[in-house]
Amino acid sequence: MSELHKFLFDGLPVRGMLVRLTDAWQDMLARRQQAGGYPQAVTELLGEMTAAATLMQANIKFNGALILQIMGDGPVKLAVAEVQPDLSLRATATVVGEVADASAGVVKLSDMVNVNNQGRCAITLDPKDRQPGQQPYQGVVPLFGDRHEKLEKLSEVIEHYMLQSEQLDTRLVLAANDKVAAGLLIQRLPVKGENNLEGNQAGQSRADAVRSADEDQIGVNEDYNRISILAASLKREELLELDVDTILRRLFWEEPHTRFEPLTGDTGPRFACTCSRDRVGSMLRSLGVAEVDSIIAEQGQVEVGCEFCGTQYRYDPVDAAHLFVPPTASAPGTEKLH
Ligand SMILES: [Zn+2]
Repeated sequence: MSELHKFLFDGLPVRGMLVRLTDAWQDMLARRQQAGGYPQAVTELLGEMTAAATLMQANIKFNGALILQIMGDGPVKLAVAEVQPDLSLRATATVVGEVADASAGVVKLSDMVNVNNQGRCAITLDPKDRQPGQQPYQGVVPLFGDRHEKLEKLSEVIEHYMLQSEQLDTRLVLAANDKVAAGLLIQRLPVKGENNLEGNQAGQSRADAVRSADEDQIGVNEDYNRISILAASLKREELLELDVDTILRRLFWEEPHTRFEPLTGDTGPRFACTCSRDRVGSMLRSLGVAEVDSIIAEQGQVEVGCEFCGTQYRYDPVDAAHLFVPPTASAPGTEKLH
């Protein structure tokens, strides 16, 4: 079962999170299999993105969808992982052309999405109760490091984002294959400003610890650095194959930490698609009646497949015509066509 674990290092302004997506991830890949599946390197990239997006959503607790996207200029044109506040999630990638064979060696991130330096990563926060006309917040993350070198690890891209946009020191380890998508996040708790401690569940002692740490920034960094170095020693195979208890014990046996109740099952990360016939209908309306009519003329019907879950939405000529009936025509009292 997919699971998300949160923990705090006792008395230190450092927190951690570990996510393992198993059934949720396999479910998504199985749906994609009907359309041919992904090359292995793309499976790994998309799995890492899905694990990272889950960690970020659980970390910021945003009341709306968190969407992690890569718009690539290589064979991977688009990769998207979207996580709702209740940790339901979905992901998809669009591949055009050849991706190198991952069994012959590591496929570089830049060879998939940043061949001509035009690749972009974006993190979008789309509020649940968005007002009409209000734009979702979007941060664009470069796929380059501080010395303008191409970044080859998604974890580094996200670490840059967390530091630059959120002012949060973060260490991220990500790994995925066709069975598991997993990630470990270690973060230095913000020590200045408001709302920097999530809730007060752990009581006053932690807040006190953070406050006194604030007076000694050097000590704060030492604790964070030590723990983040331990986290970075976690190998890909270990993250994929070991259970959560074993991983945390092996990495942090000398660092006392308190674990929270894991989020799993109905409260944990799980696959769910937000597509619907209504949404597809409004998308078709935005294409315009002429465009939809021309598809009908050519193909006899309009068929739209959801990229995320594979559901096919079909509109025959009557359904399609109905999309463009003005709302007044179906006002109360009038007969509805169907
Ligand atoms: Zn769907």
